[in-house]
Amino acid sequence: METATHTAERLTLARLPSGVPVETTLHRYEGARDGPTLYVQAAQHGREVNGTATLRRFHERLDLDALAGTVLAVPIADPLTFDRVSYTTPEPLDSVNPNLNRAWPGDADGTLHERMAATLWEHAGSADAIVDLHTGSPEMLTHVVFREDDPDSRRLAEAFGTDLLLAEQAGEDADEEWSDRGFDGKLRVVASGEGIPAITPELAYNKQIVDDAVEAGVTGLFNVLRELDMLEGEPEPNGDPILARNHLGRVTATGSGLFRPDPDLELGDRITAGTPLGTLYDPTTYEVLQEPVADRDGVLYALTREATVTGGAKLANVALVLD
Ligand SMILES: [Zn+2]
Repeated sequence: METATHTAERLTLARLPSGVPVETTLHRYEGARDGPTLYVQAAQHGREVNGTATLRRFHERLDLDALAGTVLAVPIADPLTFDRVSYTTPEPLDSVNPNLNRAWPGDADGTLHERMAATLWEHAGSADAIVDLHTGSPEMLTHVVFREDDPDSRRLAEAFGTDLLLAEQAGEDADEEWSDRGFDGKLRVVASGEGIPAITPELAYNKQIVDDAVEAGVTGLFNVLRELDMLEGEPEPNGDPILARNHLGRVTATGSGLFRPDPDLELGDRITAGTPLGTLYDPTTYEVLQEPVADRDGVLYALTREATVTGGAKLANVALVLD
């Protein structure tokens, strides 16, 4: 029997051109009993604050004496995007990898984000499981993503919960678009490829702390600890999960204008191919430019609510339901 401890350590992730260090905090929770190591982080995309808020509430509720093993938690993985309330960094800081979540496992001699990823990977890469907390927008249903051919990651996703478990094809199984978009540099994908089960919860809402989103995140995280036998007990209900496949292709705007989503549609609706999604029109002439429809049967998990769209912009995502 050891003594349970919590420490918080400052990590230097990289240096800015002026010499100012980019620092963050790593929390280390050592349980009283031996067990696996879970690495959890939030805010790779700095505006996704509900993951960060989740880790604070997790910290308040975790009973260290009940913990078996170690939890490593980084509430702000990318301080550069956090301070800018942004998704990516400005071009001068990293023009090659403006998105930290395309730069894993990083490179100590690489670009700024590759260096930051490499420092965090020293901790994440030695863990037994990884939870990478993200936050979607109000236009996106809360869900958890895992690699389709990875049963251990699927087990974590099922334990975490939410209303939608999204299997994402990876590597050679995936569409060309998957590699074109640099998805092989996501933390979850790299970890899974290294044999570390990993999930990406997408909690609801950017920029605002939304209590329901935080609560779903905390319940999910404790469920993962129970699944890994780091806490006693079984995972608690956390949503009513449907298993579906992430669909990279999406319904896009054929032109630019104003988009009015169909007011009868709600996120999470089961819809069929051909279901009307709304109306895109020219705001000057009132001419209807497009009446987009669902491209497949499935779960509507994203529907654009910001009306001003440009040609090629995403209007909706429909996930294919798996048995
Ligand atoms: Zn994100």
